[in-house]
Amino acid sequence: MSHTLSRRDFNKLLLSGVAASAFGILGSSNTAFASSKRVVVVGGGFGGAAAAKYLRKLDPSISVTLIEPKAIFYTCPFSNWVLGGLKTMEDIAQTYSALKNKYKVNVIADSAVAIDAVRGTVKLKGGQVIGFDRLIVSPGIDFKWDTIPGYSESVASAKMPHAYQAGPQTVLLHNQLLAMKNGGRVFICPPANPFRCPPGPYERASLIAGYLKAKKPLSKIIILDPKEKFSKQGLFKKGWERLYPGMIEWRSGSTGGKLVKVDAATMSLTTEFGVENADVINIIPPQKAGKIAFDAGLTDATGWCPINPISFESTIHPGVHVIGDASIAGAMPKSGFAASSQGKVAAAAIVRLFQGKVPAAPSLVNTCYSLIGPGYGISVAGVYKLTVEGIVEIPEAGGLTPINADDDQLREEANFARGWYSNIVQDTWG
Ligand SMILES: Cc1cc2nc3c(=O)[nH]c(=O)nc-3n(C[C@H](O)[C@H](O)[C@H](O)COP(=O)(O)OP(=O)(O)OC[C@H]3O[C@@H](n4cnc5c(N)ncnc54)[C@H](O)[C@@H]3O)c2cc1C
Repeated sequence: MSHTLSRRDFNKLLLSGVAASAFGILGSSNTAFASSKRVVVVGGGFGGAAAAKYLRKLDPSISVTLIEPKAIFYTCPFSNWVLGGLKTMEDIAQTYSALKNKYKVNVIADSAVAIDAVRGTVKLKGGQVIGFDRLIVSPGIDFKWDTIPGYSESVASAKMPHAYQAGPQTVLLHNQLLAMKNGGRVFICPPANPFRCPPGPYERASLIAGYLKAKKPLSKIIILDPKEKFSKQGLFKKGWERLYPGMIEWRSGSTGGKLVKVDAATMSLTTEFGVENADVINIIPPQKAGKIAFDAGLTDATGWCPINPISFESTIHPGVHVIGDASIAGAMPKSGFAASSQGKVAAAAIVRLFQGKVPAAPSLVNTCYSLIGPGYGISVAGVYKLTVEGIVEIPEAGGLTPINADDDQLREEANFARGWYSNIVQDTWG
């Protein structure tokens, strides 16, 4: 695709299907009138589970196998609510029974350990080898463990949880907060961009503050942030002033937010500005695509997976689609909502490719709700389209909760957040 095309020309091309061919869609293998229609999906989180379900809904003649090691998937969305005592782990637990029984997805409780994109096979940890005509990979994130001196995977599992993959890590952080003394100091250390759920650390600070204000009001939360600004910053800061005055301190990269090292034995953190002693330390490490994406050679130098934005087909391995946090999806944030939208786009594209047709140009959306208190919600929404630059946000189509929203609007946003959660989990696993 030439970058000298005007937007109008590009839109015409999209409609005619020529852009799909220019993006390489028609050049990939396994496209023309497939006689065998086997799709394997790796990962049963927001992207993978949505893709598996929607493939079966859109074309029941496609055989779909979902590989996911966990019998219960705990959602990261609302896991901050668990930390704040507003939800329990049971409230955020999802299973695969509807996918299996209602949508006849072949769910295999195992992990993919190798992908042969040329032969069209996935090897599982248990030894089984499964053939595919098209593969969808949605493994989420992995952590760059070696970026903070003193921090490691074993430190995260014992002393300084990331709680950025919901499950035992959420329980560990929650238990540490329950055990902490009144007057304790909680440190939250988010990474630089890009990372999963940009508002996540700040919603976390808010809901932990809600718990501490009620139960341990002398405590403090300090956010050590390498960034100079963060998602929905104005709205969060206003909410903190209103609900938790003096409890949450945010330090930016230039005001002491950059971590130099941590020490699990003394529970201390060193920044460029000095040493801090802490009672609870939540390090959210820098991130990259899930391990299988690296092992399968689907990543580029950024550590994420380049894709064709029409179908989310890998630009490295034809016939393999990468969706969700692991993919490079232009302006879209790494969110569950985005992963679910991308799962549906990939499913619809695969259905058309099996029919020997060109995938339709997608329209993509995202909304991220964050709770500052039980009756105090805020949101950011975006609508995205495909252009020569890839996936870009349509100006003025989305937006933020107004900074001067009144109490009724903020309460309404909190209700929308609850509605959003029940809708998306029903849409994905229900
Ligand atoms: C605290 C927090 C709050 C959040 N809140 C929101 C929110 O309010 N709204 C929102 O939209 N998003 C939110 N998110 C972001 C959201 O959780 C992620 O963007 C979303 O889960 C990404 O979906 P995914 O399919 O890419 O990955 P995941 O949902 O993480 O799913 C990946 C799955 O792949 C499996 N897997 C990995 N490797 C393999 C393998 N080799 N073989 C088989 N399976 C494998 C894993 O077990 C996992 O189940 C939040 C995130 C956090 C951390």
